[in-house]
Amino acid sequence: MAKALKKNNPKKELRVDGERLYKALHDLGEVGAYKDESTGIVGVNRLALSEADGAGRRKVVSWMKELGLSVSVDQIGNVYAERRGETDLPPVMMGSHIDSVPTAGRFDGCLGVLGALEVMRTLSESGLTTKRPLVAAFFTEEEGCRFGTDMLGSAVATGRIPLEAAYALKDAQGLTVKGELEKTGFLGPEAVGRRKPHAYLECHIEQGPSLRHDGFEIGVVTGVQAISWQELTIVGKSAHAGTTPMEFRKDAGVAAARINLKLREMIASGMFGKGMRATMGVNRPHPGMVNVVPGRVVCTVDLRHPEDGFMEEVERELVAFYKQVEKDEGVSISWRQTARTAMAPFSDEVQSVVEGAANELGLSNTPILSGAGHDAQEWSRACKTAMVFVPGEYDGISHNPREFSTLKQCADGVNVLLGAALTLTED
Ligand SMILES: [Zn+2]
Repeated sequence: MAKALKKNNPKKELRVDGERLYKALHDLGEVGAYKDESTGIVGVNRLALSEADGAGRRKVVSWMKELGLSVSVDQIGNVYAERRGETDLPPVMMGSHIDSVPTAGRFDGCLGVLGALEVMRTLSESGLTTKRPLVAAFFTEEEGCRFGTDMLGSAVATGRIPLEAAYALKDAQGLTVKGELEKTGFLGPEAVGRRKPHAYLECHIEQGPSLRHDGFEIGVVTGVQAISWQELTIVGKSAHAGTTPMEFRKDAGVAAARINLKLREMIASGMFGKGMRATMGVNRPHPGMVNVVPGRVVCTVDLRHPEDGFMEEVERELVAFYKQVEKDEGVSISWRQTARTAMAPFSDEVQSVVEGAANELGLSNTPILSGAGHDAQEWSRACKTAMVFVPGEYDGISHNPREFSTLKQCADGVNVLLGAALTLTED
C-alpha cells in the first residue's frame, strides 16, 4: 500500500542508490562504446538517431518499463515516462538527453536521464506516492552534431522550432530527421507541444573546471548565457607574396587576424561587462599557400555573454569594426548569423528549491551560470525551470572520452534532484 507523501514527512531520509545509478551509467555507456586510438580510453559515439542511439533508446525505454512507468514517444522522438501521482495536476518533469557527440564520455546528458530514473526507482522502493505525477524524459538531438541544430527535440516540444522544419533537417549524407526517426522506430504519435509541466529539473555535469576548482559539490544553475555565432566571408585579392608591394595588397588573412584580435581587445577594455567570451574557431584562408597573399578567408565568431544588453552592444561594435577593416584593408566582408539564443534565466523559485535540497544534504553549493546550451533552456520557456550541476574531474573535460565524474559526485547531484523534485511535486 503506497504511503501518501505529506509535507514534513520521512522522505527527508530518502537517498538514491549511488552504486545502482553508476552501474546504469556504465551499462548505457557500453552502447556505442569505442576505444580511443591515442589514449586507449573507452569513449562513447551515439550520434542522434544513429543505430547506436536507437539501441541506447531501446535500453532506456526497457528500464522505464521495468519500473512500471507509462512511456510515450512524441512526433520528434522525445520519450516521456510518467509515474502517477495522487492527483492529475501538471507533473514535475526531469530530463536530459542520451545522444552524444562522436567522441563523448558516458556522463553528458545520461546523468540527467538515468538520474531521473533512479529518483523514480528510489520512490517506488519506498512505496511513496507524490501529489503531482513525475516524468522522466529524454530529448532528441540535443548535441546538434548530426543534423546541425542543437536542443532540437526540446526546441520542437516547446515551440521554438516548427516540427516540419525539424523533419526536413539533413545530416552530411543527406538523410533527414524524419527518415531517421522512422528507421530507428522513434517517430512517435504524441503531438508535440502537448506537455505543459508544472516545473522542469535537469541534473548535468558542469563540463567546465569551476566547481571542482572552487571546491563546491553542487552548482545551482542560474541560467544559460546568450550565444551568438557568425560566419564571415572576407574577400580581398590573391597576389604573389614576393612581388606585390605591401601598399598594393588586399590581404583577407590580415583582415581576419585583426577581427580575432579585436575580440580580445574588447574583452580587455572592460567596456562590455563581465563574463564575455569570444572565439574565432574557424579560420580558412584561400588558396592557403605559403607564398600567396590570401584572397579569401572564411572564419567564424562565437560570442557568449551572460547579459543580453551587452551581447547586443558587442554585436554592434563588431559589425562597425567590419566596416573599418573593409576600409583599412581594401577587402569586403559579408557575414551571416548561424546561431543566436538570448540569455535564458532560470526560475528564482526553483533555484532556491535546488539550493534548499543541497543544504538539506549538507552539500556545499554555489550559484553558477551555464556556459553550454541545455534542454533546460528550452523548457524554461514552458515552465519554471532550474538545473543541478555536478563537478567533473580533469578540469571538467567533456565531449571527450576522458570526461569523468565520481560515483559520489553523480549520487550527490541525483540526491539533490530527488530532494528538489519532492518539494516541487507537493506545490
Ligand atoms: Zn549535455
